[in-house]
Amino acid sequence: MEEQSELKLKEQLLNDFRKKFGIELGEKMREAVEFAERVHCNQRRDAGDAYVTHPMTVSIYLLKMGMDAPTVIAGVLHDTVEDGDGVKIEDIEALFGKEVASLVDGVTKLTKSGNQTYITKKQEQTENLRKLFLSIASDVRVVIIKLADRLHNMRTLAYCTPEKQARKAKETMEVYAPLADRFGMGVIRSELEDLSFAYLMPEEYRKLKEEVSVQQKERMEALSTAMEKMKVLLKEADIKGDISGRPKHLYSTYRKMQRNNYKLNELYDLIAIRIIVETVNDCYAALGVVHATWKPLPGRFKDYIAMPKPNMYRSLHTTVMSENSIPFEIQIRTREMHETAEYGIAAHWMYKDDKKIMTELDQKTSLIKQIIEADETTEDSKEFVENVLKDFLGEYVFVLTPQGEIIDLPVGSTPLDFAYRIHTNVGHHCQHARVNGNMVRLDYKLKTNDVVEIITSNSQIGPRRDWLNIVKTQSARNKIRQWFKRENREENVQRGREMLEETAKRHAQNLQILLKPEYINEIIKRMTISSLEDLYATIGYGGISAGQVLHKLMDCHRKEMRLEEMNKKLEEAGKEPHKPTAHTIRNGIYVHGDPGMAVFFANCCNPLPGDPIIGYITRGRGISVHRADCKNAENLLRDQERIIEVEWAEEENSTFSASIRVVVVDKAGSLMAVSKVLTNLNVNMTSLRSRIGDEGSAIFEMSFSVTGTEQLKIIIANLKKLPEVIDVYRT
Ligand code: MN
Repeated sequence: MEEQSELKLKEQLLNDFRKKFGIELGEKMREAVEFAERVHCNQRRDAGDAYVTHPMTVSIYLLKMGMDAPTVIAGVLHDTVEDGDGVKIEDIEALFGKEVASLVDGVTKLTKSGNQTYITKKQEQTENLRKLFLSIASDVRVVIIKLADRLHNMRTLAYCTPEKQARKAKETMEVYAPLADRFGMGVIRSELEDLSFAYLMPEEYRKLKEEVSVQQKERMEALSTAMEKMKVLLKEADIKGDISGRPKHLYSTYRKMQRNNYKLNELYDLIAIRIIVETVNDCYAALGVVHATWKPLPGRFKDYIAMPKPNMYRSLHTTVMSENSIPFEIQIRTREMHETAEYGIAAHWMYKDDKKIMTELDQKTSLIKQIIEADETTEDSKEFVENVLKDFLGEYVFVLTPQGEIIDLPVGSTPLDFAYRIHTNVGHHCQHARVNGNMVRLDYKLKTNDVVEIITSNSQIGPRRDWLNIVKTQSARNKIRQWFKRENREENVQRGREMLEETAKRHAQNLQILLKPEYINEIIKRMTISSLEDLYATIGYGGISAGQVLHKLMDCHRKEMRLEEMNKKLEEAGKEPHKPTAHTIRNGIYVHGDPGMAVFFANCCNPLPGDPIIGYITRGRGISVHRADCKNAENLLRDQERIIEVEWAEEENSTFSASIRVVVVDKAGSLMAVSKVLTNLNVNMTSLRSRIGDEGSAIFEMSFSVTGTEQLKIIIANLKKLPEVIDVYRT
């Protein structure tokens, strides 16, 4: 293809494009090609060809991958802004629309013209990568164009200077091949790796290539009988399938040997036999045929259909022993799985409808987005780019939630990284972790296929400082740092005090009257703090709003005033006055005919303000408050003389612990969806447990603080709206 002339390329591109997208869009494409021709007319490639052959080839690649029209059009324009004289993104937008323009902008490097601030090539590269990652996060098609671009450049790298070869090959190995892998584009990844390998380690490359080709030839001959036999067996079993021998790529062979100290003849997958069938059922049926004929090697069967890799790869892998005692790997998959294995996200455009594409692609880039979010405060491009390279493009393990949801994390990640990935609050309140049912240390290094369960606790108020040395992912580290920043005490105390004063002024309230120790005690006894200063700090970092605190203080004041008034009346009528406030209101509960006992909430039903309640005088522990509809209360009611009338103190604004049970469809993403609702409602989860339910459901038991039944109703209503949620109960 590289040999083709400009004219022939153009013809091929326009014909193929028209065939796929019709005449009208075909005209747009022609305009784009001619625009690129004009812009690049005086440029040549290192090979000596007209420059425009490069963007045209990139477009042809994109077309072959099955990409949509805007992406293919953007492909031919991808270098016009960067290399062109005076072409601006606005020009592209005016001519080809917003969508194409934003894609072109995404792959365009930053211009150096304005103020040339880059000191080194490395720094320039870093700035450009930052821009690229941000673009990918907002439109994943950018990565596909960029990879097509890089693939053509690498295929034609032979014509460049040795310095450029080395630089491009290194960057390809470090950034672009991992990007292709992360987005499941296996074919492109392998080719990029092999091309880079040849430039970076020419000696090793040459040597391995020679050795492998001899071995592969021998293997292929040895396996041809097995492949013939397989054909017959599949036919007998009435399974339609294509059988082919696939030589393993050179660089992955090299890496596997390096990593495990293998010799070449110890690799069972130097040639893998691939069977492509029509349906998922056929995959398992074909596997049955294979295992019935050849003895499988123990521990080598992998079901990536039931458990796809995070980059969407699906296939069955098994290794069996041939008649002549050669172990060989067999991969079984459907045509669609095959396309996905080869083209990754690009395959979405072949198979999926738009809506499905968008949600799935959203998940693919959610990790980059998390890194961006966690990083918003730093202006340092270098740190950001390193984080993406490490956390997103580095090697990863995939572990499972108890629901079987796959979470991918960089190699070396700990249960804490896992907890922070699930939800910031799960991280902050993480108390311990279980892996595969066993308690592990928080610095345990997670392994692929570990099932990880995080046990959170109220008493774990926040992260510990030494967690900063334990976590592996930058996003977890940033979340912990942010927490400590918020904890910057003196500053927060100061800010909190000012905020409360300001709010009081706005409400024309006199803080001097309101800041009575009894009132303050009333507020802080429900929180995990113990002083007025703590309360200021909590306001300061946003743990509670100044308005909430002010209203609570005003409530306390009102109640005291009311009591005084009532006592005055009682006195005038010659009756015994009520006992002082502190005895009458306990834990936000009025106890009628106050017997001066402690008041506590029953654990069995956790009453919330607004719930009808009853009080029960226990033997020696004071008054327990139950919901009127509590099962235990029914029994207690038989003990009439111990029942005491209680009611909620008015306008109580404290927070209460509420527990709910959420039954969800047991699938990836359910926990995320539920967590998201809570985050959006500003609810802090204090504990989370999950287990498998009946008939494909999963059950989350979660607790959090609420202000009363109203808020709880809102939370439940919002959760019920989720398509993943089957039912929600209060527990
Ligand atoms: Mn280019």
